[in-house]
Amino acid sequence: MSAAAPSLTHALPLPMLLPVAGEERMFPVRRVYCVGRNYADHALEMGGDPNREPPFFFQKNPDNLVPPPGDFPYPSQSADVHHEAELLVALKRGGTNIPAEEALDHIFGYAVAIDFTRRDRQAEAKKAGRPWEVAKAFEGSAPCSALMPAARIGHPAEAAIWLDVNGSRRQSGNISSMIWQVPEIVSALSGLFELAAGDVILTGTPAGVGPVVRGDRIECGIDGIGRRSLTVI
Ligand code: MN
Repeated sequence: MSAAAPSLTHALPLPMLLPVAGEERMFPVRRVYCVGRNYADHALEMGGDPNREPPFFFQKNPDNLVPPPGDFPYPSQSADVHHEAELLVALKRGGTNIPAEEALDHIFGYAVAIDFTRRDRQAEAKKAGRPWEVAKAFEGSAPCSALMPAARIGHPAEAAIWLDVNGSRRQSGNISSMIWQVPEIVSALSGLFELAAGDVILTGTPAGVGPVVRGDRIECGIDGIGRRSLTVI
């Protein structure tokens, strides 16, 4: 007999559950990692040097994810919230110091996600040398599509990634342009953190990021992986 379940001070919340395209089962999320400046054209538009600064990591909270069909609630205390369309990688297995050559074996599937960012708060944080949570890890800040299992589509290294606001194209790139490709990202992250099943990684955004306002209709996608539509509310 196992020990009795502990008595809890409050109800234990369910983990964030992401739908899997065309399946009944759900993917429970453990952690959300994000890569900064992983496309040279976006590093340039943010004032960086794509040849000198390697990509870097930050985190969001699992409950910041918004599976479809949820909308995006415009956050408090910002007047400059930007969209960043990104490839999301979902892990089925973890570890530390995973060699890049073995990284793809750890991946359950892929999705399209938006890394919404309070750009004004981020600029303040950068200037003051402060952390980024206020700019990045706020409520509803990571809408995503259903997961497309690698078992069905393999591991795409090339696919168009795009984002439209009110029907006009704002971001248009290809995941093949990432400075760090998916195997290198998983390998580098696993040298800093112990990865585990349920971890998801947002892999950075191509150029064209820009502000959204309440009422905007956003549609984004990665060809062959998924699409996501939402309204800024
Ligand atoms: Mn981003």
